[in-house]
Amino acid sequence: YIAIDNLSLSFGDNKVLKDISLTIEKGELVTLLGPSGCGKSTLLRVFAGLEVFQEGQVFLDGEEISNVPSKNRNVGMVFQSYALFPNMTVYENIAFGLTIKKFSKSEIKQKVIAALQLVNLEDKADFYPDQLSGGQQQRVSLARSLVTEPKVLLLDEPLSALDAKIRKQLQIDIRDLQKKLGITMIFVTHDQEEAMILSDRVFVMSEGNIVQQASPAELYAQPKNNFVASFIGNYN
Ligand code: ATP
Ligand code: MG
Repeated sequence: YIAIDNLSLSFGDNKVLKDISLTIEKGELVTLLGPSGCGKSTLLRVFAGLEVFQEGQVFLDGEEISNVPSKNRNVGMVFQSYALFPNMTVYENIAFGLTIKKFSKSEIKQKVIAALQLVNLEDKADFYPDQLSGGQQQRVSLARSLVTEPKVLLLDEPLSALDAKIRKQLQIDIRDLQKKLGITMIFVTHDQEEAMILSDRVFVMSEGNIVQQASPAELYAQPKNNFVASFIGNYN
């Protein structure tokens, strides 16, 4: 599991995360939901070990990891922009993260093919990124992150650039993958509908605070305040 205790983070005078505490169970899919600028990406980067914070602690499986560098954390990341290498094939893009570790050629092949199967792109191994649709490119990004078998997958608005239909399909696929692999996922979105479809729990953020941590059903039934109610679209 992951835990954050009383974490605060400022950029200069701008306090961006304000005394955040949370726990995320192993195998859970949690979304960070909130308006632009509320601190979602910054909090996600804290999990990845990519931000310096002033107060608080981060734990993974009971061990404090606050000062563990990103490369030693075994987390995967997927972003809105696919950030694939344009001059490498799909196969090479996915294999890239493995070549840095010490795997044999046949081990790499086995792992890349398994990752391609996970995202249903077995037939696209030799394509280049610009020969794929946006949705397919994002599937490659997912495969590239999953191939190293991370403990936690962090996704920062991975579907925001996609059109509605492909987006819906990928929401379903990500949820299926997450259940199948039993991997912990933290998913950032500003789209409440997406958060409701995907999540075991939703953390609603506003101005650097987590205002409510609850299951989608609980959020609908009992929004904690007007901000949550209006953001969720439940005005009773
Ligand atoms: P969006 O939905 O637009 O992606 P967000 O919720 O992900 O927004 P963050 O990117 O976490 O928001 O930014 C939160 C605040 O921190 C903003 O006020 C932003 O300007 C500020 N901020 C983020 N990164 C930095 C940085 N490297 N240096 C200074 N300020 C930053
Ligand atoms: Mg962001």
